[in-house]
Amino acid sequence: MENCVFCKIVAGEIPSSKRYEDEELVIFEDIAPKAKIHLLCVPKEHFALLSEADDARAALLGRMLKKIGTLAPSLGLAGGYRLVVNQGEAAGQTVHHLHIHILGGEPLPWE
Ligand code: AMP
Ligand code: ZN
Repeated sequence: MENCVFCKIVAGEIPSSKRYEDEELVIFEDIAPKAKIHLLCVPKEHFALLSEADDARAALLGRMLKKIGTLAPSLGLAGGYRLVVNQGEAAGQTVHHLHIHILGGEPLPWE
């Protein structure tokens, strides 16, 4: 997808601090961290919204969650972490390539 910053990161056209990569997803550091550890889990396939997920993409999203769970300790997240998926304008989604924010590395306020 032209002019998509995450497609460019996936393609290696712009730099990122990658922490994990396999054939279908990449995990890299967010450039403007909102917690001590702030990573983004990004599918290599470009799509913007959960509402665009067919069965294959739903399965991919499930594998992304499973992979985050498996990798969490090695990413410094053994103490717990929070996942966020911003969807659309009102949620402040700025990059229209679906991504899961992974926040942790410190206590995360909720209330
Ligand atoms: P969202 O607001 O949910 O669309 O989140 C997009 C996230 O991408 C923000 O937290 C940005 O800081 C992050 N971001 C944008 N450009 C880059 C980049 N080149 N490398 C790493 N993170 C980025
Ligand atoms: Zn993209």
